Amino acid sequence: MLEIIQIPVLTDNYIYIIHDSISRETAVVDPALAEPVLDVLAKKNWSLTYILNTHHHSDHVGGNLQLKQQTGCRIIAGQSDRARIPGIDAGVNDNDVVSLGTHKAKVIFTPGHTSGHIVYYFAEEHLLFCGDTLFAMGCGRLFEGSAEQMWHSLQKLKVLPAATQVYCTHEYTQSNGRFALTVEPNNHLLQQKMVEVDKLRANHQTTVPSTIVEELATNPFFREDSVELQKTIGMLNKKPVQVFAEIRRLKDHF
Ligand code: ZN
Ligand code: FE
Repeated sequence: MLEIIQIPVLTDNYIYIIHDSISRETAVVDPALAEPVLDVLAKKNWSLTYILNTHHHSDHVGGNLQLKQQTGCRIIAGQSDRARIPGIDAGVNDNDVVSLGTHKAKVIFTPGHTSGHIVYYFAEEHLLFCGDTLFAMGCGRLFEGSAEQMWHSLQKLKVLPAATQVYCTHEYTQSNGRFALTVEPNNHLLQQKMVEVDKLRANHQTTVPSTIVEELATNPFFREDSVELQKTIGMLNKKPVQVFAEIRRLKDHF
């Protein structure tokens, strides 16, 4: 069994600690900061085995060097980001496997938000750690990639099993949902989801993780084939990648 601890940090980031109770190996995904991770490790009496980075932005790697120095952990990140991941020990590529005890995470290359972005997918455990590629009802901004690249990356996540839990790195759900309703105002599942999200946020509770099946039903960046969405944004019968690009453009200006 993997135990997952979600630590809210900075304005809206999440750090995830993943612990395997059998091997006692522990990984942290995208440590923006070191201290909150060290606090959990001390409280749980866990020692850190790995840092898994999804991409090089400072709100994902900020704690790398201090954690490495204080715990002796190994840092794993995308091979193509080698030059810009602080303290990297091992560069991984698409389809590589990272092990935590007997648990295996497959690396999936998802460029778009950045050119080297990767995600970690534990197939047997139905867990996806997707950094800034996929958010609940949203996706990452295109800082270093084209809409076409991001669209291809998202297609790789869209086909994961419905029950897969989506652990993204930011609590952007409520504003993403507000935008989603402007492009698909009559989507009932989206309306329902937003009622839940508004309740959770009013109580300062997390809305993450979501699941792939929820994203298929509510995330406009997974819904290029919705006729309502296409009509609302004036892209009826356009190619999925063109519809995607237009949704991304509209969201950037929302
Ligand atoms: Zn980022
Ligand atoms: Fe980020």
